[in-house]
Amino acid sequence: MKLPAASCGKCALQNSTMIFTINTRSQFEMVDITDGVRSALRKSNILNGVCHVFVPHTTAAVTINENADPDVPRDILTVLDKLIPLSNNYRHSEGNSAAHVKASLIGASETILVEEGELALGTWQSIFFCEFDGPRTRRVMVSVIPAA
Ligand code: ZN
Repeated sequence: MKLPAASCGKCALQNSTMIFTINTRSQFEMVDITDGVRSALRKSNILNGVCHVFVPHTTAAVTINENADPDVPRDILTVLDKLIPLSNNYRHSEGNSAAHVKASLIGASETILVEEGELALGTWQSIFFCEFDGPRTRRVMVSVIPAA
């Protein structure tokens, strides 16, 4: 399904996929992108279906978790650092293997149900862009697929 053309300073419309960019500020960071995804959903004019969020990067990821307490994303990053140390006799010559491993563990996409034009997130849930090799300019792709 193709969406009607829309103009937005932050979103570029490409067929049915909306893309927005974020500039991360640290090497490791979790950025709440719920508002960006929500605004892409609004632009789609789809009331019921699924919203697919995809991160087209190999050293970043997307996840859903709590943002009411900022210590939750901090703790997630701390645990990932303990599990996947920066140095570990990795073979990848670029020197960012830890970021690649973290990205694969967390994953490149999330799917959120859409009900009556709203993301069906739980009260405490936010969508986080996970930066593991920043700071960089990153892209987030959002596709909203209508219910049949
Ligand atoms: Zn690499």
